[in-house]
Amino acid sequence: MIDIHAHLCFPDFDDDRDRVVAECERGMTAVIVGSARYDEGLCALRLAGMHGKLFPSLGYHPTEGGGGHGRILDLIRKESAGIVGVGEVGLDHHWEKDPGRRKRQEGVFSDFIELASELRKPLIIHSWDAETRCFELVRDFGHDAVFHCFSGSAQLAEQIIARGFFISFSTQVLFSKSHRKLARVVPLGQLMLETDSPFLSPYGYLKAKGEEGRLRPGFDPKRNYPWNIGFSAAKIAEIKRVDVSQVLRETTDNARRVFRLP
Ligand SMILES: [Zn+2]
Repeated sequence: MIDIHAHLCFPDFDDDRDRVVAECERGMTAVIVGSARYDEGLCALRLAGMHGKLFPSLGYHPTEGGGGHGRILDLIRKESAGIVGVGEVGLDHHWEKDPGRRKRQEGVFSDFIELASELRKPLIIHSWDAETRCFELVRDFGHDAVFHCFSGSAQLAEQIIARGFFISFSTQVLFSKSHRKLARVVPLGQLMLETDSPFLSPYGYLKAKGEEGRLRPGFDPKRNYPWNIGFSAAKIAEIKRVDVSQVLRETTDNARRVFRLP
């Protein structure tokens, strides 16, 4: 069980981060602590430094605007031996509608692509409503790339797969029909699991089915947690008509290989 994208440094976990991390250490193979801002990146480095199953990935959120990413590039360079990936980085056309600022996002994204290429680190890509453009920009990136929370078309997913990249499914696959359709298209060999914690909690979905009792007790159900990838794995297994153990084994192998985890 590897969650390749969890924001464990978000303030949502300030009150009980130790407990959440302890639970991850107990039940997970690994968790990649993603970040999208400078301070969050520092926290990810600190947290991963203290816990053997947590690994940091440093990035910059496209909605942060333009400037200010230089010091994150510097931090990635300085800490490159300890980080497992560059991200999340990418484009966001969902929240950003201004053409000039969208163009600036591309410049920033290109800086990160260049650095990831130089450092030979995998990219973790945020591509909300900009999936096609993200793909165009990374098409010739010579290393691994993972489209996190991918919400593009099945047709684009096929192109991403054909190019050898990976698609990561969040707990959205539980409650979104389009993500279930994507899960049918993406082969297990190029699929990963994530939660984007604390976002995308499966609580509403499970509650509607009267199954909220399946959530791990003692943790606020409105947040998401890395161990909830178990629910997504079961859903993907059902969609692909394979055993859940196979989904967990293959997604764990993929993440381990791409992020060079122990
Ligand atoms: Zn994220």
